[in-house]
Amino acid sequence: MTEQASENGHDYRRVLLKISGEALMGDGSYGIAPQMVDTIAGDVAAVAQSGVEVCLVIGGGNIFRGVAAAARGMDRAQGDYAGMLATVINALMVQNALERHGVPTRVMSAIHMSSVAEPYIRRRAVRHMEKGRVVIFAAGTGNPFFTTDTAAALRAAEMDCDALLKGTQVDGVYSADPRKDGNATRFETLTYLDVLAKDLHVMDAAAISLARENRLPIVVFNIHAPGAFSRVMRGEGLFTRIVEAR
Ligand code: UDP
Repeated sequence: MTEQASENGHDYRRVLLKISGEALMGDGSYGIAPQMVDTIAGDVAAVAQSGVEVCLVIGGGNIFRGVAAAARGMDRAQGDYAGMLATVINALMVQNALERHGVPTRVMSAIHMSSVAEPYIRRRAVRHMEKGRVVIFAAGTGNPFFTTDTAAALRAAEMDCDALLKGTQVDGVYSADPRKDGNATRFETLTYLDVLAKDLHVMDAAAISLARENRLPIVVFNIHAPGAFSRVMRGEGLFTRIVEAR
């Protein structure tokens, strides 16, 4: 634990939170539920205002996924670019909600669109966080054939984050889908290799490998439980940690 981390009472000095596009849909099946965005923004605001440096990667699956479009006959790379633009829409929504909670934010896009977002520049992103701004990394990695999970692992490594938090619809990683299988059990801790070998679908293999190479702990928790992000930062509540060794 770093000096700054112990001063603010958290286990972490700087973290990256990955929020899937689907998390923004609420109970809907497409698009953005403003109430859900506001709830998530409130949680992020509480953590940021407690002194932890926070950056975000937001997916785009609530609007557009390249793989799904390719299955319907669209060129995959073209579909992926559309998917990356979807993440920018989500980023602007979350930025707006965070600012309503009094949190200064910057959206940095991996695809240049200077009228709506800053270009992604690593050192500038670090500076924003040092000044207490929440940085939202939009447009994934900027490359087709990748996912925002991989973008999250990449940016977390670049930002030298203490952990990559993945906010999902369930409170950790289970042996099977707990919404379908009553016997599913939640893992407290897993290794990166467990996730790959058991094919647990927490994040894609590229993201897990990147986290492993950079010794970046991944913490999986339920983003829909109000206040869960703050609790996880204090080591409370339910979550699964993915690390090098159990
Ligand atoms: N995408 C991409 N490169 C990236 C990140 C995302 O091409 O580095 C595209 C891809 O088409 C993906 C879509 O953006 O399906 C939305 O991202 P993702 O599926 O990761 O969102 P999530 O599942 O987190 O909502």
